Amino acid sequence: MKTLRLILGDQLNQKHSWFTNVDESVIYIMAEMRQETDYVKHHIQKVVGFFMAMRSFKEDLTEKGHRFKYLTIGNPENPQDLKKIITKYISETKAEKLEYQLPDEYRLDQQLQSICEDLSIETEAFDTEHFYTTRNELKDFYKGNKQMVMESFYRMMRKKHNIMVNKDQPEGGKWNFDQSNRKKWKGEPEIPHDRGFRKEVSPILQELEKAGVETFGNIEPESFNWPVSREDCQSVLRYFCKELLVHFGDYQDAMHDHEKYLFHSRLSFAMNTKILSPQEVIDKVLEHFYEHKEEIDISQVEGFIRQILGWREYMRGIYWKEMPKYAQMNKLENKNKLPDFFWTGKTKMNCLKHAIGQSLDTAYAHHIQRLMVIGNYALLTQIHPDEVDKWYLGVYIDAIEWVEITNTRGMSQFADGGIVATKPYVSSANYINKMSNYCGSCSYSHTKKTGENACPFNALYWNFLNEKRTFFQDNHRMNMMMSLLEKKDEKELNELTERAQAIIANPDTF
Ligand code: FAD
Ligand code: SF4
Repeated sequence: MKTLRLILGDQLNQKHSWFTNVDESVIYIMAEMRQETDYVKHHIQKVVGFFMAMRSFKEDLTEKGHRFKYLTIGNPENPQDLKKIITKYISETKAEKLEYQLPDEYRLDQQLQSICEDLSIETEAFDTEHFYTTRNELKDFYKGNKQMVMESFYRMMRKKHNIMVNKDQPEGGKWNFDQSNRKKWKGEPEIPHDRGFRKEVSPILQELEKAGVETFGNIEPESFNWPVSREDCQSVLRYFCKELLVHFGDYQDAMHDHEKYLFHSRLSFAMNTKILSPQEVIDKVLEHFYEHKEEIDISQVEGFIRQILGWREYMRGIYWKEMPKYAQMNKLENKNKLPDFFWTGKTKMNCLKHAIGQSLDTAYAHHIQRLMVIGNYALLTQIHPDEVDKWYLGVYIDAIEWVEITNTRGMSQFADGGIVATKPYVSSANYINKMSNYCGSCSYSHTKKTGENACPFNALYWNFLNEKRTFFQDNHRMNMMMSLLEKKDEKELNELTERAQAIIANPDTF
């Protein structure tokens, strides 16, 4: 019996049990599709990264003897649509069974279920063998609980997978070293720079242009710098363990205008395409840590493991628990449009200029830039979460809806009313100045609240609390901020409101 096995662009797991043996009766199908390039406008590096990674995956497995049918974006026989591609190959190969791995996006999950219902041949879905958790594990874990605090899930995961745990107790005496992850980076310690991959991508750029795929953002055709093969992804992981892990936790929240990546791993693309598994990453990090225990503090390692074993698995669980209604949530009733400078990086606000400019140049910004600069601004200016989601889903190379929407609509925009975050992540200039050197060379003064050169974040912050006060009156985590707001005299509050409203009305002039 001939079987077709579908592999989607984010299912590049070479370690999957499908590939343990070569089976002559199996044909793998993969396709670069307009359906996937066009559901939102993407950064050019994201499209190039995914297609290059898919091609590299196919090459590696073809070398091992597996049979593939692969449609490139420019192939005139490519129907560019998942249903048409599946039916085309079923009829061409006379396959009697279709097998697929469970998609991680709700959209594709629905589409595949409906395609399968219409097919006359047998179909079967398989696990991707990537995550630590199943789709519904988080839902079962929090059953009956109103609050789904990440920390309790994380501790359960540490114990269940026996990661940095001795007899159910955390190694180092604490489950969480978050408090020590808050240093500002001031030029030291030195960040060892890697050369990167510097790949020539002109041919694929020409293919995309010929096919008419519309993208945004920048790319250097002779030096594409994202790892797309399994070998390259493994080298990024080795580099992280050897050079960056030692300071990861300390500078996790730091930002700097000359250092885009600081001590961050840049492994999200490798993991989200499933080229590397979270277990492989955590195992390597722990192996390195235990071999170099005298040089690396446990807080650096725990900080990293928490992101992957905790936050990453947690977000996936929340996604499957809350979709599809999650994608419609707008609890704070925000309505504004995204300013133009999100597409150009052209603004006088230095923090945004750097965080957005870097996103457009590299398809990457690290967590605190996404959360406390760009996301903070979007929330304070009350932009509609649909607009914010679309931008984040398009711009970052690691953006796949299950992890993008939970972070954007949930953690960053509080549009879910507190499912993911217990309070909105908003701040005035104070926080940005504390964690970065952006304010030092900004046109605005981070200490001023009103007046022409006052930092826009300051007025926006108080205006946001004031306008949204009814949403926060029962949130005890907001008590301190709300009581500070209550203490403001009317004149000051009026001035702050006036300035905030001027910014919101004309964001591109600030
Ligand atoms: P590191 O800082 O080195 O962290 C290591 C790994 O931990 C990451 O590779 C990632 O897999 C995981 N991780 C860290 N934080 C989170 C988190 N909050 N949720 C899930 N996993 C996490 N991450 C994505 O993978 N895709 C997205 O589309 C995405 N969108 C985001 C949008 C917003 C508004 C925010 C605030 C965060 C978003 N994140 C997203 C989470 C995080 O910012 C990125 O995972 C991280 O910046 C990727 O860079 P890195 O690999 O260098 O991460
Ligand atoms: Fe950003 Fe305000 Fe600091 Fe300028 S002063 S960098 S706008 S926080």
